[in-house]
Amino acid sequence: MTRDPTGFLRQEVDQLVASELDWKLRVLDGPSLPWSVIDGKKVLMFCSNNYLGLSNHPKLKAAAIEAVRTHGAGSGSVRPIAGTMDLHVELEQRLARFKGAEASLVYQSGFATNAGLIPQLVGEGDLVISDELNHGSIIDGVRLSRAERSVYKHADTDDLARVLSEAERHAPAYRRILLITDGVFSMDGDVAPLDRIAALGADHGAMVYVDDAHGEGVLGEGGRGIVSHFHLRRDQVHVEMGTFSKAFGVVGGHISGSTALREFAFNKSRTWLLSGSHPPAVTAACIAAVDVLEQEPEHVARLWSHTRRFKQAMHDAGFNTGQSTTPITPIVVGDSGLARRMSQRLFDLGVFALPIVFPMVARDKARIRTIMNAALTDDDVGFAIDAFTRAGRDLGVV
Ligand SMILES: *Cc1c(COP(=O)(O)O)cnc(C)c1O
Repeated sequence: MTRDPTGFLRQEVDQLVASELDWKLRVLDGPSLPWSVIDGKKVLMFCSNNYLGLSNHPKLKAAAIEAVRTHGAGSGSVRPIAGTMDLHVELEQRLARFKGAEASLVYQSGFATNAGLIPQLVGEGDLVISDELNHGSIIDGVRLSRAERSVYKHADTDDLARVLSEAERHAPAYRRILLITDGVFSMDGDVAPLDRIAALGADHGAMVYVDDAHGEGVLGEGGRGIVSHFHLRRDQVHVEMGTFSKAFGVVGGHISGSTALREFAFNKSRTWLLSGSHPPAVTAACIAAVDVLEQEPEHVARLWSHTRRFKQAMHDAGFNTGQSTTPITPIVVGDSGLARRMSQRLFDLGVFALPIVFPMVARDKARIRTIMNAALTDDDVGFAIDAFTRAGRDLGVV
């Protein structure tokens, strides 16, 4: 009898289940709304990345439907061959204008952007300097390059200065240095000190790359993102990368910067060159999302007023909300079992927010990660505050 070559599949899954590290997939019966039906129960959505509620905005839905009528269901090709439609070009022009950049380029996803572009920007003889808490797509992009890498302590510009000085003394001299950071860190909701990072980068002649996936639609003037938030000039941040899958409510990655960056990126990124382009509905919905951000600033304003109210209430109730200064508010409870019980209790009370436990965060820093949503009403936010306070008291967290 021969051994089953796939035997490891069940074995490894069983190990994950035994150590409670497996994902149990919750299923939405219908759209992602402020009140969503999840596993048959109507609950307040408190952990989606749909910060502004745009995934169900009537303008986005209408644009997607219209694009199917005018352009079909699929694009038919990869972008460089026959898959660049007028819609793709329009989206890139609209995004560049929104960002105040010379040019933008849209990829299939944020992950595909980092995995495709980073290994082209740096290679053998180069160095990548990365924040220790950077997103997995950055880590994988760096791994695909042949560059050396140095990691600095999270958001610590003294440690970054040390790494940059060491890099300067390296022999032979590095050909290029790429300094890369998340804009908003997704587990803690803190903002990278991009002003000081960009200044240090400039002092040492490094390229500066920011992944603003959680900052777009949230930070800066009208949600223009972290470069706008810090009033940085375009030549201080060479690659501003982001995604349409979070506050923009759709899907797709993008970069903004110089025209040279755009042309370099699309000629060289393998993910962009070798993977099919977005269907018309996706692209048209993204254009509509940019429209909504430009024309309806009230969504970003409401996101922040809800955020301030919720953070203050959690603080007053005695919860530890960590270092967050953004609509991502972690409710740190410490023990991972406690975080899981708290999430279940919240679900029973009608609020959907997932626990984040080791290895995603340190063993003693398990938390419920909440993400505010502008589409909630004031009553909804009050409902969430009551549920957290009750669950926290029931479980002895506060
Ligand atoms: C979500 C996220 C990504 C990936 O974006 P997708 O468009 O969903 O692939 C990349 N970087 C960061 C920091 C993210 O939070």
